[in-house]
Amino acid sequence: MRYELTDRATIEYLLNEQGFHFSKNLGQNFIIDPEVCPRIARKSGISKDCGVIEIGPGIGVLTAQLCELAGKVVSIEVDKKLLPVLDKTLADFDNSKIIYGDVLKTDLDKLIDEEFGEGRVCVCANLPYYITTPIIMRLLTATKKIDSITVMVQKEAADRLCAEVGSRNSGAITAAVNYYSEAEKLFDVGKSSFYPSPKVDSSVIRLNLRKEPPVKVSDEKLFFSVIKAAFGQRRKTALNSLSSGLGMPKSDIASALTKCGFEPTVRAETMTLEDFAALTDALSGK
Ligand code: SAM
Repeated sequence: MRYELTDRATIEYLLNEQGFHFSKNLGQNFIIDPEVCPRIARKSGISKDCGVIEIGPGIGVLTAQLCELAGKVVSIEVDKKLLPVLDKTLADFDNSKIIYGDVLKTDLDKLIDEEFGEGRVCVCANLPYYITTPIIMRLLTATKKIDSITVMVQKEAADRLCAEVGSRNSGAITAAVNYYSEAEKLFDVGKSSFYPSPKVDSSVIRLNLRKEPPVKVSDEKLFFSVIKAAFGQRRKTALNSLSSGLGMPKSDIASALTKCGFEPTVRAETMTLEDFAALTDALSGK
């Protein structure tokens, strides 16, 4: 039996049966606009030769659309109360598997090996917004086996994730996203497309993972520490932020900045990935 998963009465019936109450803490806002999930699934570029990881299936409204297009869909859900609901709503699909757990504690590399083997793997999800950055960082760094990440996030987060590095809207996450992927904003989704309706607007973005980073970095760990420290205190100059964030004397930072041709007043949001790479080399004495 197929349930109308964008219909409020159906949603309430399915959830009430399990004594389910929406949790703000778990970012539970389910999609009720019938056009949104098919659009996300289409734009994610998945096909029958592709395995999909979904984070937070909720009652399975996006999952069902993904199952129509993909070879296999593995969805990770942390709320136990939703599992019996998903058993019902996805009963018709033999290519859906639900894993109970916290995505931030899941070994994604192992999951991909076990569930998809060597095939192409994409991520597609309406993310729980309260952990957008840690999820994105984990997807970008925990495995090299993901092809693309198509996710709905809060609109402001989308603007930051898809900003150009070196522009006013950029932050440490922008630099990381750009290092690992090419980011594009796909479309906006208004508050009324969700139940319950959230306070913020949303956007769907797609990150296409790069085969090689766009800049050569001699010490990747230091590179990301430099970026994190540089953006650590947004209203300060890079010199002050780097000195306190890295615990290094200002004089050392100042001479590294000068060596790279920067003014001492330079700010992190004007620096490009190439700039951060050069600064990392200068700080490590290379
Ligand atoms: N995919 C559904 C939709 O679009 O209607 C639900 C999306 S809702 C924004 C986020 C979902 O993520 C919820 O089902 C929530 O329980 C789940 N979730 C929250 N934190 C999680 C975590 N750490 N790991 C896995 N799932 C999580």
